Amino acid sequence: MGDTRHTQRAELVAHRLRERMWEICEAFPYDAPNCYWLESDCGDSYCREHAIEARAEEFGFGPLLRDPDWYRRNEMDDAFFEGISAGRDGESDNCETCSTCGKTLSYVLTDYGARSELDHFLEHPPAVLSGEISYEMNRASLNIWSGSTRRQLLDTARMVNAAWRISAPARARIEGE
Ligand SMILES: [Zn+2]
Repeated sequence: MGDTRHTQRAELVAHRLRERMWEICEAFPYDAPNCYWLESDCGDSYCREHAIEARAEEFGFGPLLRDPDWYRRNEMDDAFFEGISAGRDGESDNCETCSTCGKTLSYVLTDYGARSELDHFLEHPPAVLSGEISYEMNRASLNIWSGSTRRQLLDTARMVNAAWRISAPARARIEGE
């Protein structure tokens, strides 16, 4: 009995939090670039430009490499680009950023990753929001569902509601448009 009530309430809370997070992201939009990495080194993530640059370094090409359309590629180009992998929304244990420029890349968090990102935002609540921060918060809030623990729901609520408060002026501007 109690469990059913918890499940229903959890679903409602999760739904409300997702709505709020969506509005925050609307006020601070961010189009996350795809995440790339090199086959030879799975440690680093890159935006496309810097994946190509890092791969060029592996080949000893220097920074002059062109980025031809696939149908214009020769064998050398093929070998070059086959060493670069891309994943849209690959599951990750942490926030993905480009190793070279630091730009936030597209990713989805594992449950473990969402937990540690939540802890990060609760320990270091941002004073101001940006597109990248709202994107990262959104990623951290996506793993809640009706089966989430109370702690996870409450922690997500604390993160989202803090962002909700500081995003009030920006959200009001959007509504006024
Ligand atoms: Zn980059």
